[in-house]
Amino acid sequence: MPRRRRNSSELPRFAAGGSPLEAFALFGLALAAAVLSVVYVSVSAYMADPMSSTRVFSGFRALVTCKKLQHHLGPSLISLPSDDEYVALREENRSQAGLRDPSCIASPRSATEVAEIVVVLVQDGVPFAVRSGNHESIPSEAGTDQGVLITLSNLNEVSYDAGTGLVTLGSGTRWDAVNAELDKNNVAVVGDRTPDVGVGNATSGCGLSYLSDLYALVCDNVVNYEVVLFDGRIVEANINSNPDLFWALKGGSDNAGIVTKFETKTYLSTPTP
Ligand SMILES: Cc1cc2nc3c(=O)[nH]c(=O)nc-3n(C[C@H](O)[C@H](O)[C@H](O)COP(=O)(O)OP(=O)(O)OC[C@H]3O[C@@H](n4cnc5c(N)ncnc54)[C@H](O)[C@@H]3O)c2cc1C
Repeated sequence: MPRRRRNSSELPRFAAGGSPLEAFALFGLALAAAVLSVVYVSVSAYMADPMSSTRVFSGFRALVTCKKLQHHLGPSLISLPSDDEYVALREENRSQAGLRDPSCIASPRSATEVAEIVVVLVQDGVPFAVRSGNHESIPSEAGTDQGVLITLSNLNEVSYDAGTGLVTLGSGTRWDAVNAELDKNNVAVVGDRTPDVGVGNATSGCGLSYLSDLYALVCDNVVNYEVVLFDGRIVEANINSNPDLFWALKGGSDNAGIVTKFETKTYLSTPTP
């Protein structure tokens, strides 16, 4: 028997184009059901394993911030896990124990870029870690999971001023690069004893040198720090300007800010005849 086609007055009301109010109510119901499902799944996941679901949410939040930073600063400065550069940067670490899985790795080239990154991270409440020479093997010291790793390796200036006898060091430099440059001028710094240790923490966290019996600890020889504070200000810390910060940085490591530059004393490498 041939099927009879229904005319529009016989179709269900919504399909036939019900009132806007009914359509709105249906949409509202669907939305509420979707929201309730997400809440249900989230609460169940949290009840099953609070730590792992918290990690998922923090990871998601950090990833959103990473995308924001990448949009603002460009892909060459912010590497996501899908980027080739990310793998090399992540594994540029002396100790396997220190390896972590940050949501992205930021490689600023100046104090201004460090400050821009810090402001966004603090505003978004995303955890972050700071790395200089990557020599720290305690995992949470210079690494983070579900957060952002700021590597200072692009801050690698070494400039010696023969007039003042001071050398300015970018905080991502390593001691072998510092020594190679200073050898040309027949001077030396009170630096770490191991060539590939970073200037960053050996200087802000203090440090023991082969020259320490003559000239004290590494940090005792620093006369000025350029520091990015956690509110994004870039300040100088020395005996006259921000003296409390100057004092705190002599061993304070990353607790008071991110040091981007050090100015430190040099000494003649060979005795004068
Ligand atoms: C093989 C070996 C030899 C060593 N030899 C010596 C030695 O001769 N003398 C000595 O004193 N110590 C020595 N150490 C210890 C070394 O000084 C520390 O591990 C130091 O933390 C390494 O500095 P880094 O910048 O490479 O550290 P990273 O691993 O990059 O960072 C370590 C900590 O410092 C913080 N940090 C790094 N850069 C900055 C910055 N610019 N501003 C603020 N915070 C920062 C990080 O956030 C992190 O908390 C040695 C370690 C190893 C493994």
